[in-house]
Amino acid sequence: MFDRKKRILITAGGTKEYIDPIRYISNDSSGKMGISIADASYDLGFDVTLVCTFNLDKPYKTLLASSAFDMKKVLLQEFLKNDVLIMAAAVSDFTPKKYQKHKIKSSENITLELIKTPDILKDISKIKKPEQKIIGFALETENLINNAKEKLKKKNLDYIIANESSAIGSDYNRIIILNQKGEEIYASGLEEKSSVAKSILEKIMT
Ligand code: C5P
Repeated sequence: MFDRKKRILITAGGTKEYIDPIRYISNDSSGKMGISIADASYDLGFDVTLVCTFNLDKPYKTLLASSAFDMKKVLLQEFLKNDVLIMAAAVSDFTPKKYQKHKIKSSENITLELIKTPDILKDISKIKKPEQKIIGFALETENLINNAKEKLKKKNLDYIIANESSAIGSDYNRIIILNQKGEEIYASGLEEKSSVAKSILEKIMT
């Protein structure tokens, strides 16, 4: 049975790390997995907040966070108002050290210095109340389960959802859910993301 009074905070999309006003570093994430989870949560009657890297028109609360730093700021403001955080966004691990206010002129070769972005989940897990739950995603090109288990521990998560890199930008996904102990509690087939989203909510919200 779902407790529909629960408030769910979900993130979606690939962050954009701007180099100058025109160019940025990003990834191929479409945001479809996170948006499908937010849509399914809303359809089930949960109180939903979706933090997305692009603007969306939805019947539930949406907030824009473009870069990794923006996303951390928004989540720190929103997290304690929610019962659950589902972090489906593909957050860039690096961002340019210096933002150039004006478009960089095409001239000689340039060197771009990148610095590490904050590990948002790790930081949020430090302010987590015992009754709150945090769910992360692990998208890997190799050693899917082992890498997912490592992230589960490092980021102090309640569940981690492992998926392969073929999920990026696709309408389909195949997932494995691991609980806090690293035990496999669910494995889906290759399904539409809307269907995978419902299974995720059934496993983590009941
Ligand atoms: O990129 P990675 O595979 O490490 O992401 C694992 C989880 O950590 C995802 O849920 C992602 O949203 C989150 N993440 C984060 N802060 C980062 C990078 C990733 O919270 N800087």
